[in-house]
Amino acid sequence: MINSIKKDCEATGRGGERQAVKALPFSRRSFLAKTSCFGAFYAVAKLIPLPALAAELAGDSRVSATPIVDKGFASVRKIGTGLYATISDTSKGFTTVCNGGFLAGKDAALLLEGYAGPAGASFQMDALRMVSQVPVKGALDTHYHFDHSMGNSFYGGNGVPLWAHATTAKRIVDNYGPLQGLEKEAALGPYEKRVKEAKSETERAHAQSDLSAVTGLFQIANSTMLGLPNHPIDPAKLPLSVDLGGLTAVIESYPGHSGTDMIVRVPEQHVVYAGDLLFSGWYPVCFDEKATISGWRYTLKKFATLDKDTLFVPGHGQICGQEGIATLREVFDDISGQAEKMYKAGVPVEEAQHRYVVPDKFENFPVYAWGFTIGPAITKLYAEWGAK
Ligand SMILES: [Zn+2]
Repeated sequence: MINSIKKDCEATGRGGERQAVKALPFSRRSFLAKTSCFGAFYAVAKLIPLPALAAELAGDSRVSATPIVDKGFASVRKIGTGLYATISDTSKGFTTVCNGGFLAGKDAALLLEGYAGPAGASFQMDALRMVSQVPVKGALDTHYHFDHSMGNSFYGGNGVPLWAHATTAKRIVDNYGPLQGLEKEAALGPYEKRVKEAKSETERAHAQSDLSAVTGLFQIANSTMLGLPNHPIDPAKLPLSVDLGGLTAVIESYPGHSGTDMIVRVPEQHVVYAGDLLFSGWYPVCFDEKATISGWRYTLKKFATLDKDTLFVPGHGQICGQEGIATLREVFDDISGQAEKMYKAGVPVEEAQHRYVVPDKFENFPVYAWGFTIGPAITKLYAEWGAK
């Protein structure tokens, strides 16, 4: 399978200076998925169907039973007064990939996320215009990861100010800039090597999942015109209240997923747009060099203290209530519990990161590439415990 992917990608690959790449962050996506290079990647994402809205949320008076628009790859649903959630379903397409949404007050609107490409951002703008004609005050990337930022150029081209954590622009340039003009071999070679040199079938399967994810990332970042936030938000100056006219959004920043994470909270309606600080019914993506497991667990503990009726829009997965926070905390507890046993038994980290066993109760939780989720969670935990 790898060989055929390799051959196909070579046929469509772009030339360019060979450059070294330290680490390739995660994602997947969109119209390029139609090309054969996306074969493996597309197959992986197709296995991640979106669960239906939980019964208790379907009965929540804030949540509209019918989406205002449903394109398969994403639907947009009203979840409060002037509040809308865009929920992606990668089993049906890659135009948006991440979740997001928008807030529309009497005077202005705030859009969330740049999605996996300009078509995703455009889809969101169209959805806003179905319900409101107020001026757009800004579009906020909840963090720099490319499934949340590759459509930024759409906002730039339409005069929408782009908001994000102050370090987001630099992280986009540092992580995705080097992939532009890079030869495919330089980007994927190390991952292909890991598949070939895997010491066991488990390690091979893990390496294969990483290669699929990175193939998708490379194709997208290599071919996307990067758009950088022009409205940096200093995390030291948060929380920031944004008055949209009868609707107040509060922007806050928390540690955990990427070092650039921001959430948008609407306290009056108990709604939180959590970005990737919340994976709902998924294993959390922890690969980022600035990801911190203890920080993330602290953040989730904070979220758990919010109102019991809080409605959360996660970065990936279905809309949830406090039970979604509780479940992700359980996932972290489980990873940490298994890792701690191995750490105390003297299992080296290189082995431990592959030895985690998914328990039955999480067996349906998508693992978006082992080396972007469970593997780095264990490596980071070992580091937090002082492993050399
Ligand atoms: Zn992310």
